[in-house]
Amino acid sequence: MAKIIVGWFTFTCSEDSTILFTEILNSHWQEWTKAIDFKYAKTLRKSAGIGPMDIAFVEGAISSDSQAEKLKKIRGLAKTLVAIGACAVTGQPSAQRNQFTPEQLEAIKPILERFSYNDKVQRLDEVVKVDYSVPGCPMDETKFVELINKLCIK
Ligand code: SF4
Repeated sequence: MAKIIVGWFTFTCSEDSTILFTEILNSHWQEWTKAIDFKYAKTLRKSAGIGPMDIAFVEGAISSDSQAEKLKKIRGLAKTLVAIGACAVTGQPSAQRNQFTPEQLEAIKPILERFSYNDKVQRLDEVVKVDYSVPGCPMDETKFVELINKLCIK
């Protein structure tokens, strides 16, 4: 039986859910690897670009047009897209600067310009359709395991 092709992608965030994901694999790798090909996951392996996949897990919020374009590309390649962690699901805490005062915004202006960041940080569902969400900061481990078992382990 063909394996489920999975990708794991990270945008603006602290990457704690990625760390948690690799920790979870310590307990589930043997079982999951029989059914899942973690084909596009920089934290696990090198890959030359990305291609069609069954599930994209996406961590982090969207801060720039280039990030939004990459997210749209991932959405176009994935049958199912899962938002991972609070930054992806709600925007926060990565979107704290959306509530900055004019003085605070003036102070960070050189950084926004240097990295071509947008005025506002967006959650994933403001840019693309999201099929499932795993909340938490970092992600709720139990909910993540339940979801991956539901989607991948028949
Ligand atoms: S949701 Fe929390 S743990 Fe996850 S990337 Fe954002 S700040 Fe970090």
